[in-house]
Amino acid sequence: MIHFDHVTKVYESNGTSFKAVNDVELKVEKGEIFGVIGFSGAGKSTLIRLVNLLERPTSGSVLLNDRDMASLKKSELREQRRKIGMIFQHFNLLESKNVYHNVAFPLSLAGVPKKEIDSRVTEILEFVGLSDKSTQYPDQLSGGQKQRVGIARALATSPEILLCDEATSALDPETTKSILDLLKRVRDEYNITILMITHEMNVIREVCDQVAVMEQGQLIEQGTIFDVFSNP
Ligand code: ADP
Ligand code: ADP
Repeated sequence: MIHFDHVTKVYESNGTSFKAVNDVELKVEKGEIFGVIGFSGAGKSTLIRLVNLLERPTSGSVLLNDRDMASLKKSELREQRRKIGMIFQHFNLLESKNVYHNVAFPLSLAGVPKKEIDSRVTEILEFVGLSDKSTQYPDQLSGGQKQRVGIARALATSPEILLCDEATSALDPETTKSILDLLKRVRDEYNITILMITHEMNVIREVCDQVAVMEQGQLIEQGTIFDVFSNP
């Protein structure tokens, strides 16, 4: 489903170059929850941003369902990006819009008719447990509720892939648990493939089927949680 085929990403700045991702080979299968763990600066954000082409590989390719993202025409790329939802550590909600309109926004951008938007938003708010918050604004919500809105917005366009960038790092342990439970339901009920990056071991242990350890741009270990973290 997601295949990093020997992907390298080099950043050039002020005449120096820096290899943030170094020859990464990685396959994420459909319906899997795949976690990439590593310290700050390891290259995790760069890795995840390569999936929706917020960054382009310097060499190698990122393939989604066997198609090279870099080869897509502009219109195809727009279409492809709609199949990829993303959630963030600091939620990135639109503060001037209420919950309903935050979730409706990607659908409006996609030109979905108002009636369809209405039924989709209602359905997805129910799924994340926020039906009664639709007219609230982000600053009236707790961190956990904001992330539920983030998840609802990411799911609005019915993506095949959900990218999670330190999605629980700003939340307390109890709220983290409830968000991770919700992500499991996202996978189980919608069969969405989830790729998450985190520096938190408990997150990996709680939800991931497969894990990779990233260090200085390289994946130094990969396998099931049991393979990678059980003591010999
Ligand atoms: P992580 O998410 O694991 O903290 P990042 O992918 O954000 O890692 O960063 C990996 C390395 O690449 C860091 O050393 C960072 O400073 C560098 N880096 C990230 N983005 C850029 C950029 N746009 N230009 C130059 N260097 C960058
Ligand atoms: P706009 O027309 O600028 O998008 P509105 O606030 O009138 O602004 O919302 C448009 C549509 O969105 C409404 O017709 C309504 O069906 C729907 N809507 C807005 N807020 C809610 C809500 N809290 N719950 C359910 N539907 C809502």
